[in-house]
Amino acid sequence: MPELPEVQTVLDTLERKIKNRKIINIDVLYKPIIDLDEDVFKSKMIGQHFRHFKRRGKYLLFEMDDITFVSHLRMEGKYFILDDKTPISKHDHVIFYLDDNTQLRYNDVRKFGRMELIDIDKNYKVFKELGPEPFSDDFNLIYCKNYLINNNAPIKQILLNQSFVAGIGNIYADEILYYMKTNPNTIGKNITDGDIKKMIKGCRLILSEAIKKGGTTIRSYTSSLGVTGRFQLDLKVHTKEKCPKCKGDIKKIVVGGRGTYYCPNCQKQRTRIALTGTIGSGKSEAANYIRNEKGFEVFDCDAVNKKLLEPNASGYKQVVKAFPECVNDSKLDKQALAKIIFNNPKEKKKLENILHPLIFKEMEKAIEKNKLFIAEVPLLFESKWDKYFDCSILLVSNEKNMIKHLKLRGFSSKDAKSRIKNQMSVKEKEKRASRIIYNNGSLRNLYLSVDEAIESIINARN
Ligand SMILES: [Zn+2]
Repeated sequence: MPELPEVQTVLDTLERKIKNRKIINIDVLYKPIIDLDEDVFKSKMIGQHFRHFKRRGKYLLFEMDDITFVSHLRMEGKYFILDDKTPISKHDHVIFYLDDNTQLRYNDVRKFGRMELIDIDKNYKVFKELGPEPFSDDFNLIYCKNYLINNNAPIKQILLNQSFVAGIGNIYADEILYYMKTNPNTIGKNITDGDIKKMIKGCRLILSEAIKKGGTTIRSYTSSLGVTGRFQLDLKVHTKEKCPKCKGDIKKIVVGGRGTYYCPNCQKQRTRIALTGTIGSGKSEAANYIRNEKGFEVFDCDAVNKKLLEPNASGYKQVVKAFPECVNDSKLDKQALAKIIFNNPKEKKKLENILHPLIFKEMEKAIEKNKLFIAEVPLLFESKWDKYFDCSILLVSNEKNMIKHLKLRGFSSKDAKSRIKNQMSVKEKEKRASRIIYNNGSLRNLYLSVDEAIESIINARN
Protein backbone atom coordinates (compact mmCIF):
# COMPACT_ATOMS: atom_id res chain seq x y z
CA MET A 1 0.00 0.00 0.00
CA PRO A 2 1.39 3.42 -0.86
CA GLU A 3 2.47 5.30 2.28
CA LEU A 4 2.97 9.01 2.85
CA PRO A 5 6.16 9.40 0.73
CA GLU A 6 4.63 7.60 -2.25
CA VAL A 7 1.42 9.61 -2.05
CA GLN A 8 3.44 12.82 -1.74
CA THR A 9 5.51 11.85 -4.78
CA VAL A 10 2.39 11.08 -6.82
CA LEU A 11 1.03 14.47 -5.82
CA ASP A 12 4.26 16.36 -6.60
CA THR A 13 4.51 14.64 -9.96
CA LEU A 14 0.91 15.38 -10.90
CA GLU A 15 1.38 18.98 -9.82
CA ARG A 16 4.22 19.35 -12.29
CA LYS A 17 2.22 17.72 -15.09
CA ILE A 18 -1.37 18.91 -14.77
CA LYS A 19 -1.38 22.11 -12.68
CA ASN A 20 -3.98 24.54 -14.11
CA ARG A 21 -5.19 22.01 -16.67
CA LYS A 22 -8.94 22.08 -17.27
CA ILE A 23 -11.16 19.00 -17.28
CA ILE A 24 -13.07 18.82 -20.59
CA ASN A 25 -14.85 15.52 -20.03
CA ILE A 26 -14.89 12.48 -17.73
CA ASP A 27 -15.58 8.79 -18.34
CA VAL A 28 -16.37 6.67 -15.31
CA LEU A 29 -15.82 3.06 -16.34
CA TYR A 30 -16.12 1.52 -12.87
CA LYS A 31 -18.69 3.37 -10.76
CA PRO A 32 -17.94 2.11 -7.18
CA ILE A 33 -14.61 3.98 -7.27
CA ILE A 34 -16.62 7.20 -6.95
CA ASP A 35 -18.36 7.82 -3.65
CA LEU A 36 -21.19 9.86 -5.17
CA ASP A 37 -23.58 9.83 -8.09
CA GLU A 38 -21.73 9.70 -11.39
CA ASP A 39 -23.73 12.56 -12.95
CA VAL A 40 -23.21 14.79 -9.93
CA PHE A 41 -19.50 13.99 -9.96
CA LYS A 42 -19.24 14.85 -13.65
CA SER A 43 -21.28 18.04 -13.45
CA LYS A 44 -19.21 19.35 -10.54
CA MET A 45 -15.85 18.41 -12.06
CA ILE A 46 -16.17 19.14 -15.78
CA GLY A 47 -14.94 22.65 -16.55
CA GLN A 48 -12.87 22.83 -13.36
CA HIS A 49 -9.08 23.38 -13.27
CA PHE A 50 -6.54 21.52 -11.11
CA ARG A 51 -5.36 24.49 -9.02
CA HIS A 52 -3.66 23.33 -5.81
CA PHE A 53 -2.20 19.98 -4.83
CA LYS A 54 -2.39 18.99 -1.17
CA ARG A 55 -2.14 15.87 0.93
CA ARG A 56 -3.66 14.74 4.21
CA GLY A 57 -2.30 11.41 5.48
CA LYS A 58 -2.55 9.09 2.50
CA TYR A 59 -5.28 11.15 0.80
CA LEU A 60 -4.56 13.16 -2.33
CA LEU A 61 -6.40 16.47 -2.30
CA PHE A 62 -6.82 18.32 -5.58
CA GLU A 63 -8.22 21.78 -5.05
CA MET A 64 -10.22 22.66 -8.13
CA ASP A 65 -11.86 26.06 -8.73
CA ASP A 66 -14.95 25.39 -6.60
CA ILE A 67 -14.44 22.03 -4.98
CA THR A 68 -11.81 19.68 -3.58
CA PHE A 69 -11.40 16.35 -5.33
CA VAL A 70 -10.19 13.67 -2.89
CA SER A 71 -8.51 10.50 -4.08
CA HIS A 72 -7.32 7.58 -1.98
CA LEU A 73 -5.14 5.06 -3.82
CA ARG A 74 -5.62 2.33 -1.19
CA MET A 75 -3.81 -0.85 -2.29
CA GLU A 76 -2.76 -0.30 -5.90
CA GLY A 77 -4.30 2.86 -7.29
CA LYS A 78 -2.18 4.64 -9.93
CA TYR A 79 -2.45 7.70 -12.11
CA PHE A 80 -1.21 7.82 -15.67
CA ILE A 81 -0.98 10.82 -17.96
CA LEU A 82 -1.38 9.56 -21.50
CA ASP A 83 -2.27 10.86 -24.92
CA ASP A 84 -5.56 9.92 -26.55
CA LYS A 85 -3.92 7.36 -28.85
CA THR A 86 -2.95 5.04 -25.98
CA PRO A 87 -5.49 2.20 -25.81
CA ILE A 88 -7.58 2.04 -22.67
CA SER A 89 -6.51 -0.74 -20.32
CA LYS A 90 -9.05 -2.92 -18.54
CA HIS A 91 -7.75 -1.51 -15.24
CA ASP A 92 -8.36 2.13 -16.25
CA HIS A 93 -11.47 3.04 -14.27
CA VAL A 94 -11.81 6.82 -14.48
CA ILE A 95 -10.61 8.94 -17.39
CA PHE A 96 -10.29 12.72 -17.15
CA TYR A 97 -9.97 14.38 -20.56
CA LEU A 98 -7.79 17.49 -20.20
CA ASP A 99 -7.64 20.67 -22.28
CA ASP A 100 -4.18 19.90 -23.71
CA ASN A 101 -5.40 16.69 -25.41
CA THR A 102 -3.89 14.49 -22.71
CA GLN A 103 -5.79 12.19 -20.38
CA LEU A 104 -5.39 11.62 -16.68
CA ARG A 105 -6.27 7.99 -16.14
CA TYR A 106 -6.95 6.35 -12.82
CA ASN A 107 -5.83 2.75 -12.96
CA ASP A 108 -6.45 0.26 -10.16
CA VAL A 109 -5.99 -3.51 -10.51
CA ARG A 110 -7.72 -4.27 -7.22
CA LYS A 111 -10.38 -1.54 -7.45
CA PHE A 112 -10.00 -0.61 -3.76
CA GLY A 113 -9.31 3.07 -4.43
CA ARG A 114 -11.95 5.72 -3.72
CA MET A 115 -12.76 9.23 -4.95
CA GLU A 116 -15.02 11.85 -3.45
CA LEU A 117 -15.73 15.57 -3.52
CA ILE A 118 -15.61 17.84 -0.47
CA ASP A 119 -15.66 21.57 0.17
CA ILE A 120 -12.44 23.53 -0.17
CA ASP A 121 -11.18 24.11 3.35
CA LYS A 122 -8.06 25.56 4.92
CA ASN A 123 -7.41 22.82 7.46
CA TYR A 124 -9.55 20.01 6.11
CA LYS A 125 -11.08 19.34 9.50
CA VAL A 126 -13.26 16.78 7.74
CA PHE A 127 -10.38 14.33 8.14
CA LYS A 128 -10.90 14.39 11.89
CA GLU A 129 -10.16 10.68 12.24
CA LEU A 130 -6.60 11.44 11.14
CA GLY A 131 -3.85 12.39 13.56
CA PRO A 132 -1.40 15.22 12.84
CA GLU A 133 0.90 15.17 9.84
CA PRO A 134 4.40 13.98 10.81
CA PHE A 135 5.92 17.21 9.49
CA SER A 136 3.50 19.51 11.29
CA ASP A 137 4.15 21.30 14.58
CA ASP A 138 1.14 19.50 16.07
CA PHE A 139 3.17 16.29 16.05
CA ASN A 140 5.25 17.19 19.10
CA LEU A 141 6.48 15.87 22.45
CA ILE A 142 3.44 16.92 24.46
CA TYR A 143 0.97 15.57 21.92
CA CYS A 144 2.77 12.21 21.75
CA LYS A 145 3.19 12.01 25.51
CA ASN A 146 -0.53 12.51 26.08
CA TYR A 147 -1.39 9.93 23.45
CA LEU A 148 1.01 7.33 24.84
CA ILE A 149 0.29 7.76 28.53
CA ASN A 150 -1.68 4.75 29.83
CA ASN A 151 -1.47 3.24 26.33
CA ASN A 152 -0.86 -0.50 26.49
CA ALA A 153 -0.68 -1.13 22.74
CA PRO A 154 2.71 -1.95 21.16
CA ILE A 155 4.43 1.12 19.72
CA LYS A 156 4.51 -0.46 16.24
CA GLN A 157 0.73 -0.74 16.26
CA ILE A 158 0.42 2.85 17.54
CA LEU A 159 2.63 4.19 14.73
CA LEU A 160 0.37 2.46 12.21
CA ASN A 161 -2.73 3.95 13.77
CA GLN A 162 -3.68 6.85 11.47
CA SER A 163 -5.39 8.62 14.39
CA PHE A 164 -1.99 8.94 16.13
CA VAL A 165 0.00 10.18 13.17
CA ALA A 166 -1.13 10.33 9.54
CA GLY A 167 0.50 8.56 6.65
CA ILE A 168 2.81 5.94 8.19
CA GLY A 169 2.47 2.34 7.02
CA ASN A 170 4.12 -0.98 7.77
CA ILE A 171 7.45 -0.44 6.02
CA TYR A 172 8.22 3.01 7.38
CA ALA A 173 7.06 2.06 10.89
CA ASP A 174 9.72 -0.68 10.97
CA GLU A 175 12.37 1.73 9.69
CA ILE A 176 11.40 4.43 12.20
CA LEU A 177 11.57 1.98 15.13
CA TYR A 178 14.97 0.77 13.94
CA TYR A 179 16.17 4.39 13.87
CA MET A 180 14.80 4.88 17.41
CA LYS A 181 16.47 1.65 18.59
CA THR A 182 13.08 0.76 20.01
CA ASN A 183 11.61 -2.71 20.20
CA PRO A 184 8.35 -2.83 18.19
CA ASN A 185 6.56 -4.55 21.07
CA THR A 186 7.35 -1.80 23.61
CA ILE A 187 4.02 -0.68 25.01
CA GLY A 188 3.08 2.96 24.53
CA LYS A 189 3.30 3.98 28.16
CA ASN A 190 6.89 2.68 28.39
CA ILE A 191 8.04 5.01 25.61
CA THR A 192 10.18 7.69 27.27
CA ASP A 193 10.51 11.38 26.42
CA GLY A 194 13.86 10.60 24.82
CA ASP A 195 12.22 7.89 22.70
CA ILE A 196 9.47 10.30 21.61
CA LYS A 197 12.02 12.89 20.52
CA LYS A 198 13.81 10.24 18.48
CA MET A 199 10.49 9.07 17.06
CA ILE A 200 9.52 12.54 15.84
CA LYS A 201 12.97 13.10 14.37
CA GLY A 202 12.99 9.60 12.85
CA CYS A 203 9.57 10.01 11.23
CA ARG A 204 10.58 13.26 9.57
CA LEU A 205 14.02 12.08 8.51
CA ILE A 206 12.96 8.75 7.04
CA LEU A 207 9.84 10.07 5.33
CA SER A 208 11.58 13.08 3.82
CA GLU A 209 14.41 10.90 2.51
CA ALA A 210 11.84 8.61 0.93
CA ILE A 211 10.06 11.59 -0.67
CA LYS A 212 13.39 12.81 -2.04
CA LYS A 213 14.18 9.35 -3.38
CA GLY A 214 10.70 9.01 -4.84
CA GLY A 215 11.10 12.27 -6.69
CA THR A 216 14.25 11.13 -8.45
CA THR A 217 12.73 7.76 -9.33
CA ILE A 218 9.67 9.41 -10.82
CA ARG A 219 11.71 11.92 -12.79
CA SER A 220 13.44 9.05 -14.57
CA TYR A 221 10.06 8.00 -16.04
CA THR A 222 9.64 9.48 -19.48
CA SER A 223 6.48 9.17 -21.54
CA SER A 224 3.97 7.21 -19.49
CA LEU A 225 3.80 7.91 -15.84
CA GLY A 226 3.14 5.09 -13.43
CA VAL A 227 3.02 6.92 -10.19
CA THR A 228 2.54 4.42 -7.43
CA GLY A 229 4.09 1.79 -5.20
CA ARG A 230 7.49 1.56 -3.70
CA PHE A 231 10.67 3.16 -4.92
CA GLN A 232 14.20 1.86 -4.57
CA LEU A 233 14.47 2.77 -0.94
CA ASP A 234 17.43 2.27 1.33
CA LEU A 235 15.62 0.03 3.77
CA LYS A 236 17.71 -0.89 6.77
CA VAL A 237 15.55 -3.44 8.54
CA HIS A 238 12.27 -4.15 6.72
CA THR A 239 12.58 -7.47 4.79
CA LYS A 240 16.31 -7.53 5.56
CA GLU A 241 18.28 -10.47 6.94
CA LYS A 242 21.27 -8.83 8.62
CA CYS A 243 21.40 -5.69 10.73
CA PRO A 244 23.62 -3.08 9.01
CA LYS A 245 24.82 -1.85 12.41
CA CYS A 246 25.64 -4.95 14.47
CA LYS A 247 25.59 -7.55 11.62
CA GLY A 248 23.27 -9.67 13.78
CA ASP A 249 20.21 -11.49 12.42
CA ILE A 250 17.06 -9.49 11.81
CA LYS A 251 14.04 -11.13 13.37
CA LYS A 252 10.55 -11.26 11.84
CA ILE A 253 7.60 -11.26 14.19
CA VAL A 254 3.93 -10.32 14.01
CA VAL A 255 2.77 -7.20 15.86
CA GLY A 256 -0.88 -6.19 15.67
CA GLY A 257 -1.36 -8.59 12.78
CA ARG A 258 1.43 -7.08 10.66
CA GLY A 259 4.74 -8.65 9.67
CA THR A 260 7.41 -6.76 11.61
CA TYR A 261 11.18 -6.74 11.20
CA TYR A 262 13.59 -5.67 13.91
CA CYS A 263 17.09 -6.28 15.25
CA PRO A 264 16.80 -7.99 18.68
CA ASN A 265 20.27 -6.74 19.54
CA CYS A 266 19.89 -3.05 18.62
CA GLN A 267 16.21 -2.77 19.51
CA LYS A 268 16.04 -4.15 23.02
CA GLN A 269 12.77 -4.17 24.89
CA ARG A 270 12.18 -1.59 27.61
CA THR A 271 11.23 -3.38 30.80
CA ARG A 272 10.54 -1.95 34.24
CA ILE A 273 10.90 -4.28 37.18
CA ALA A 274 9.92 -3.33 40.72
CA LEU A 275 11.57 -5.08 43.62
CA THR A 276 9.54 -5.04 46.79
CA GLY A 277 9.09 -7.09 49.92
CA THR A 278 7.82 -7.41 53.41
CA ILE A 279 9.81 -6.15 56.40
CA GLY A 280 13.02 -8.12 56.87
CA SER A 281 12.53 -10.11 53.67
CA GLY A 282 16.04 -9.43 52.34
CA LYS A 283 14.96 -6.83 49.80
CA SER A 284 18.08 -4.74 50.30
CA GLU A 285 20.33 -7.82 50.07
CA ALA A 286 18.62 -8.70 46.79
CA ALA A 287 19.00 -5.12 45.49
CA ASN A 288 22.68 -5.05 46.42
CA TYR A 289 23.23 -8.40 44.75
CA ILE A 290 21.60 -7.16 41.51
CA ARG A 291 23.61 -3.96 41.69
CA ASN A 292 27.02 -5.33 42.61
CA GLU A 293 27.07 -8.84 41.18
CA LYS A 294 24.78 -8.52 38.16
CA GLY A 295 25.90 -5.02 37.20
CA PHE A 296 22.43 -3.49 36.79
CA GLU A 297 21.62 -0.08 38.12
CA VAL A 298 18.97 -0.35 40.84
CA PHE A 299 16.94 2.76 41.55
CA ASP A 300 16.42 3.13 45.28
CA CYS A 301 13.13 4.92 46.04
CA ASP A 302 13.90 5.20 49.76
CA ALA A 303 17.27 6.82 49.12
CA VAL A 304 15.75 9.31 46.69
CA ASN A 305 13.00 10.03 49.20
CA LYS A 306 15.61 10.80 51.85
CA LYS A 307 17.61 12.97 49.49
CA LEU A 308 14.52 15.00 48.62
CA LEU A 309 14.15 15.90 52.29
CA GLU A 310 17.65 17.29 52.69
CA PRO A 311 17.85 21.08 53.07
CA ASN A 312 18.05 22.75 49.62
CA ALA A 313 16.54 19.67 47.94
CA SER A 314 13.42 20.20 45.82
CA GLY A 315 11.06 18.52 48.30
CA TYR A 316 12.36 20.15 51.47
CA LYS A 317 10.86 23.61 51.02
CA GLN A 318 7.45 22.25 50.09
CA VAL A 319 7.35 19.87 53.05
CA VAL A 320 8.44 22.58 55.49
CA LYS A 321 5.63 24.76 54.16
CA ALA A 322 3.02 22.01 54.34
CA PHE A 323 4.00 20.72 57.80
CA PRO A 324 4.87 23.81 59.89
CA GLU A 325 4.26 21.80 63.07
CA CYS A 326 7.35 19.69 62.22
CA VAL A 327 9.72 22.63 62.00
CA ASN A 328 12.09 23.31 64.86
CA ASP A 329 14.60 26.18 64.70
CA SER A 330 13.60 26.55 61.04
CA LYS A 331 14.72 22.97 60.45
CA LEU A 332 12.55 20.03 59.49
CA ASP A 333 12.21 17.54 62.36
CA LYS A 334 12.02 14.27 60.39
CA GLN A 335 11.15 12.16 63.43
CA ALA A 336 8.19 14.39 64.22
CA LEU A 337 7.12 14.16 60.59
CA ALA A 338 7.39 10.34 60.64
CA LYS A 339 5.25 10.21 63.76
CA ILE A 340 2.52 12.38 62.24
CA ILE A 341 2.25 10.42 59.03
CA PHE A 342 2.36 7.05 60.78
CA ASN A 343 -0.69 7.92 62.84
CA ASN A 344 -2.68 9.93 60.32
CA PRO A 345 -3.48 8.62 56.82
CA LYS A 346 -4.64 12.05 55.65
CA GLU A 347 -1.32 13.67 56.59
CA LYS A 348 0.49 10.76 55.00
CA LYS A 349 -1.36 11.37 51.73
CA LYS A 350 -0.45 15.04 51.94
CA LEU A 351 3.24 14.19 52.20
CA GLU A 352 2.99 11.64 49.38
CA ASN A 353 1.35 14.21 47.12
CA ILE A 354 4.45 16.34 47.52
CA LEU A 355 7.13 13.68 47.32
CA HIS A 356 5.80 11.07 44.89
CA PRO A 357 5.81 13.28 41.78
CA LEU A 358 9.38 14.33 42.63
CA ILE A 359 10.50 10.73 43.08
CA PHE A 360 8.78 9.82 39.83
CA LYS A 361 10.64 12.60 38.03
CA GLU A 362 13.96 11.19 39.26
CA MET A 363 12.81 7.73 38.24
CA GLU A 364 12.00 8.90 34.70
CA LYS A 365 15.59 10.09 34.29
CA ALA A 366 16.88 6.66 35.30
CA ILE A 367 14.38 4.88 33.01
CA GLU A 368 15.62 6.95 30.08
CA LYS A 369 19.13 5.62 30.64
CA ASN A 370 18.32 1.95 31.26
CA LYS A 371 16.30 -0.25 28.92
CA LEU A 372 16.11 -2.76 31.74
CA PHE A 373 15.02 -0.60 34.62
CA ILE A 374 14.98 -2.08 38.12
CA ALA A 375 13.76 -0.15 41.15
CA GLU A 376 13.56 -0.98 44.81
CA VAL A 377 10.11 0.21 45.90
CA PRO A 378 9.37 -0.69 49.54
CA LEU A 379 5.65 0.14 49.52
CA LEU A 380 4.98 -0.74 45.88
CA PHE A 381 1.40 -1.93 46.27
CA GLU A 382 0.43 0.35 49.16
CA SER A 383 1.42 3.42 47.16
CA LYS A 384 -0.15 1.93 43.98
CA TRP A 385 3.16 2.37 42.19
CA ASP A 386 2.86 -1.08 40.63
CA LYS A 387 1.06 0.65 37.73
CA TYR A 388 4.37 2.21 36.68
CA PHE A 389 6.03 -1.19 36.27
CA ASP A 390 5.72 -4.10 33.87
CA CYS A 391 6.29 -6.66 36.58
CA SER A 392 7.16 -6.99 40.22
CA ILE A 393 9.29 -9.30 42.32
CA LEU A 394 7.97 -9.69 45.85
CA LEU A 395 10.23 -10.97 48.60
CA VAL A 396 8.47 -12.60 51.51
CA SER A 397 9.71 -13.71 54.87
CA ASN A 398 7.78 -15.29 57.75
CA GLU A 399 6.43 -13.30 60.68
CA LYS A 400 9.11 -14.57 63.04
CA ASN A 401 11.79 -13.13 60.76
CA MET A 402 9.93 -9.88 60.38
CA ILE A 403 9.69 -9.39 64.14
CA LYS A 404 13.36 -10.32 64.58
CA HIS A 405 14.30 -7.78 61.95
CA LEU A 406 12.23 -5.00 63.51
CA LYS A 407 13.60 -5.74 66.97
CA LEU A 408 17.11 -5.28 65.57
CA ARG A 409 15.94 -1.85 64.44
CA GLY A 410 14.93 -1.04 68.03
CA PHE A 411 11.23 -1.87 68.04
CA SER A 412 9.61 -3.60 71.00
CA SER A 413 7.74 -6.87 70.31
CA LYS A 414 4.42 -5.07 70.63
CA ASP A 415 5.42 -2.21 68.33
CA ALA A 416 6.85 -4.64 65.81
CA LYS A 417 3.58 -6.56 65.68
CA SER A 418 1.49 -3.43 65.25
CA ARG A 419 3.85 -2.22 62.54
CA ILE A 420 3.43 -5.48 60.63
CA LYS A 421 -0.35 -5.39 61.09
CA ASN A 422 -0.38 -1.85 59.72
CA GLN A 423 1.03 -2.97 56.36
CA MET A 424 -0.91 -4.54 53.53
CA SER A 425 -1.23 -8.26 54.27
CA VAL A 426 1.27 -10.63 52.68
CA LYS A 427 -1.60 -12.51 51.04
CA GLU A 428 -2.81 -9.33 49.38
CA LYS A 429 0.71 -8.54 48.13
CA GLU A 430 1.15 -12.09 46.83
CA LYS A 431 -1.99 -11.69 44.76
CA ARG A 432 -0.60 -8.60 43.04
CA ALA A 433 3.03 -9.63 42.51
CA SER A 434 4.22 -11.14 39.22
CA ARG A 435 6.94 -13.21 40.94
CA ILE A 436 7.36 -14.21 44.57
CA ILE A 437 10.56 -15.20 46.33
CA TYR A 438 10.27 -16.87 49.73
CA ASN A 439 13.42 -16.01 51.61
CA ASN A 440 14.29 -18.66 54.18
CA GLY A 441 17.41 -16.85 55.30
CA SER A 442 19.95 -18.52 53.00
CA LEU A 443 21.74 -15.90 50.90
CA ARG A 444 22.71 -18.48 48.29
CA ASN A 445 19.08 -19.43 47.75
CA LEU A 446 18.06 -15.78 47.69
CA TYR A 447 20.59 -14.99 44.95
CA LEU A 448 19.58 -18.02 42.89
CA SER A 449 15.93 -17.05 43.12
CA VAL A 450 16.70 -13.45 42.11
CA ASP A 451 18.71 -14.69 39.09
CA GLU A 452 15.88 -16.92 38.02
CA ALA A 453 13.21 -14.23 38.44
CA ILE A 454 15.10 -11.58 36.45
CA GLU A 455 16.09 -13.99 33.68
CA SER A 456 12.56 -15.24 33.22
CA ILE A 457 11.19 -11.68 33.09
CA ILE A 458 13.75 -10.69 30.44
CA ASN A 459 13.13 -13.84 28.38
CA ALA A 460 9.38 -13.39 28.51
CA ARG A 461 9.60 -9.91 27.05
CA ASN A 462 12.08 -10.47 24.19
ZN1 LIG B 1 21.56 -4.67 15.17
